[in-house]
Amino acid sequence: MISKVLIANRGEIALRVLRACKELGIATVAVHSTADADAMHVRLADESVCIGPPPSRDSYLNIHQIVAACEITGADAVHPGYGFLSENAKFADILEAHGITFIGPTAEHIRLMGDKITAKQTAMELGIPVVPGSDGEVTAENVLETGRKIGFPVLIKATAGGGGRGMKVAKTEDDLMEAFDTARSEASAAFGNAAVYMEKYLEKPRHIEIQVVGDGEGNAIHLGERDCSLQRRHQKVWEEANSPALNVEQRMKIGQICADAMKKMKYRGAGTVEFLYENGEFYFIEMNTRLQVEHPITEAITGIDLVHEQIRVASGGGLSVTQEDIVFSGHAIECRINAEDPRTFTPSPGTITHFHAPGGLGVRVDSGAYAGYKIPPYYDSLIGKLIVHGRTRVECMMRLRRVLDEFVVDGIKTTLPLFQDLVSNQDIANGDYDIHWLEKYLAAKTD
Ligand code: ADP
Repeated sequence: MISKVLIANRGEIALRVLRACKELGIATVAVHSTADADAMHVRLADESVCIGPPPSRDSYLNIHQIVAACEITGADAVHPGYGFLSENAKFADILEAHGITFIGPTAEHIRLMGDKITAKQTAMELGIPVVPGSDGEVTAENVLETGRKIGFPVLIKATAGGGGRGMKVAKTEDDLMEAFDTARSEASAAFGNAAVYMEKYLEKPRHIEIQVVGDGEGNAIHLGERDCSLQRRHQKVWEEANSPALNVEQRMKIGQICADAMKKMKYRGAGTVEFLYENGEFYFIEMNTRLQVEHPITEAITGIDLVHEQIRVASGGGLSVTQEDIVFSGHAIECRINAEDPRTFTPSPGTITHFHAPGGLGVRVDSGAYAGYKIPPYYDSLIGKLIVHGRTRVECMMRLRRVLDEFVVDGIKTTLPLFQDLVSNQDIANGDYDIHWLEKYLAAKTD
């Protein structure tokens, strides 16, 4: 059994994990940098430890300090949240060596999915459909031949990629060498690893991902999909469940493929299998071996608390539900509220002078923000997530419109006005959008 969890994260996700621990009667330890001493997750935790100065590499990414904080407080488990150390296999190994439970998958599975070429090969072996592409790495010698074989346009991607970096499109053969060289140098600069591979470039796909949870013993379930096609610079902005593009049959089919793959792997914990979806076909792009920012929309339509499940399986207690217990109910949308200028997307740190979160049936706000809170400039600009649930997509959209009008965040700029625009847009109302829709929409607005 787990009795005390150290939460190795900050912001809304630290608060999210803390809430789950409290509901399970588990004691909590918050860690924080000097910049986050007044953060809500620190105030609400049973204990807190300052682990260093503001830069992440000296605090939230400092494994030694986090392990020391576990030893000082007697925490017997660590929840990594998302980002920071959540997909760091070495961190999982070190915790295990110290007898501390990592609330997440095995280090081996984190490694397997962290390298995109291995992840793709593993997915193929597990029966998951993948994007047509190169067999492993492409080099100066085989790049042209591989491109011709796959057929243009193609995408060159970094093996160690993340956050949309080290990715270049070659529309025709003439663009190929330049795309190859640029992707390699970007990959080398961003990840210290210049290795790249090649995929067919899909022109108008949707981004659809499947939530899975496994117990590490060969039982696994899926919790349906999330549609995260509304992206800016490969960053998700608005997510919904279910996808407006799928029917029940398609959902259950791809969901079952992913759950079966997780059973074969004996996957432990929560994970997300990400796909591009075009013309009725799914193409695997990667698997994230952690909780996702957008997990609450899945919780809204299934009633399953994913952090409860993560903690249960980490402590050997198994899943609380079987696939047959999962009922998908209604529709949910999440808006990521960033402290950014809604037109230029430049960060807008500072002090929040007024904060009023909306409420009512079907409304969830995950945020550590409050009036008087000073947003530090050192971390990402997500200050909260608004999650709205309705019995139908139409009800959900109407509710979202009402709720956006109620939300007050003063003193800083936020992306709330962007969502007010989107909720009134006809394409969005029709669910008619792909991964390029938002970029085109924003470009047209500034013209
Ligand atoms: P990262 O790990 O850097 O986020 P992903 O492989 O998850 O990289 O891809 C990020 C985004 O890039 C996808 O959501 C999609 O918008 C785009 N993308 C990735 N692969 C392809 C592809 N083969 N064709 C078209 N777009 C792609």
